[in-house]
Amino acid sequence: MSAVDYDVIVLGSGFGGSLLSAILAKSGLAVALIDSARHPRFAIGESSTPLADYTLAMIANEYDLPELLPLTKYGSWKREHAEIGCGLKRGFSYFGHRPETEFGGESQLLVAASSSDESSDTHWLRSDVDAFVFGVAKTHGVTTFEEATYQLHRKPDGWLVDGICDDNAISLQARFAVDATGSAGVVLKSLGIADQTQLLNTNSAAIFAHFANVKPVAECLDDIGVDRQRHPFPCDAAAVHHVLDSGWMWQLRFDDDTVSVGMMFGGRGARPIDTSVDLQVVWQQQIDRFPMLRHQFSVATIVRPKKGLQFAKRVQRLTTTAAGEYWAALPGTAGFIDPLHSTGIAHTLLGVRRLVSILLMAPMNRERQLQQYSDQLINELRLVDELVAGCYAALPSFQLWSAWCMLYFAAVTSMEQADSNTANQSFLRADDVLFREMLIEARAELRLAVADGSAVACDRFEQRLRCLIQPWNVVGLMNAECGGMYSHTAAN
Ligand SMILES: Cc1cc2nc3c(=O)[nH]c(=O)nc-3n(C[C@H](O)[C@H](O)[C@H](O)COP(=O)(O)OP(=O)(O)OC[C@H]3O[C@@H](n4cnc5c(N)ncnc54)[C@H](O)[C@@H]3O)c2cc1C
Repeated sequence: MSAVDYDVIVLGSGFGGSLLSAILAKSGLAVALIDSARHPRFAIGESSTPLADYTLAMIANEYDLPELLPLTKYGSWKREHAEIGCGLKRGFSYFGHRPETEFGGESQLLVAASSSDESSDTHWLRSDVDAFVFGVAKTHGVTTFEEATYQLHRKPDGWLVDGICDDNAISLQARFAVDATGSAGVVLKSLGIADQTQLLNTNSAAIFAHFANVKPVAECLDDIGVDRQRHPFPCDAAAVHHVLDSGWMWQLRFDDDTVSVGMMFGGRGARPIDTSVDLQVVWQQQIDRFPMLRHQFSVATIVRPKKGLQFAKRVQRLTTTAAGEYWAALPGTAGFIDPLHSTGIAHTLLGVRRLVSILLMAPMNRERQLQQYSDQLINELRLVDELVAGCYAALPSFQLWSAWCMLYFAAVTSMEQADSNTANQSFLRADDVLFREMLIEARAELRLAVADGSAVACDRFEQRLRCLIQPWNVVGLMNAECGGMYSHTAAN
């Protein structure tokens, strides 16, 4: 059987691989998109940000894909694509808990990302969104293969894929392959690219699923008499973070009232998860330690995925190289740090945009650009690692955790508010030397505060950080007068 020729083979049809394929096909390339699963299928990584929405809008405009524009804001999404599941995300909500202690209302941080529901960010129900973007790819002429079993072969001048799809033998070849398979890293593995996960500071495990009947935080606060009047937005219409002694929990509420929930274990108090114990038992033990969580989950049930709670022993991974002469990996395949700070969607979209501009160049001009793409991506993932690791190191202090979070907000808001083309900048100021130096100093100060552990040391750290972030503090972060309630941080 002779192989069918393509310009590019994309492995993995999550929203990243599908979007890349759609743009390339729309731009005139012959693209094959192959996935080992079939849409719609469960996927995690659901919380968008202003930077993600801005980048998606830019891509939609640059490459004439207007069908994607409604997904860049909650208002237009609900009007034009009510059938695609999503949730309202007005910002980031954090609640600090102590084991066996009723939440008292003092440990709260709410950071607005959007100023209205209409212009708001969203939680993406990934099974729906990925299926939609996959459909867009098909519409623009991408040849798609779902539930394919195949072998990838490296040839001197490209790639050959042999396999079976829908009971038919398939054989495809292309000069260039994109690895968008996430943790499977099909191209990375076939090339034997070395891994450098051991260099990462963050070390966290995850247990997650989608639940129904999770009581909203707002109702729990009302039940225990905690005043919500100061909240700059309804606290559940957000990426909710419950900050615990051993890690944290995310809660992302969709409009059908199901909630994506994940428990991250990674603080100093976290013990390795005993995999001989039933996951449900580990989950329940953790919930039972915190009165508000107990309350929220008293009648909750798992609705997705069918196989129940999912477990990832260590979620971090990082490759040493993210692109070469005939291949490239998308950001979520090159590495992943942690769900904290919701960096995955925005980073993937930035990576898609960068890769498209390289793949639309003449092949002989690509080599240096691909090297830069790889270096930049890995540098950015290392930065995200620093921004995340400090939060875990700060635990169990909610004060130190919240202060360290401000470094992420300083990076992202200074990017969002810059006049220049945000999507052309390095992600989260990764190539800003002064910002990186400041981070090193901040981490040293954090170590001192953690080692000391006193209230005075925590206050001192906060004051120091306030000075350190000043050059990037364009939205009034760490303003003692707001008492942790930030409304003026909204980007849209
Ligand atoms: C626990 C967790 C929580 C997260 N939370 C967030 C968040 O809140 N916000 C955020 O922005 N990001 C988050 N992320 C990151 C986010 O999931 C990724 O950035 C995003 O999914 C990347 O999209 P993608 O399309 O590149 O890859 P993926 O979504 O990983 O898609 C990979 C695709 O490859 C397919 N595939 C797998 N193996 C093969 C194979 N052998 N051959 C062909 N196809 C294959 C899969 O079926 C899938 O369709 C989270 C990640 C994790 C692990």
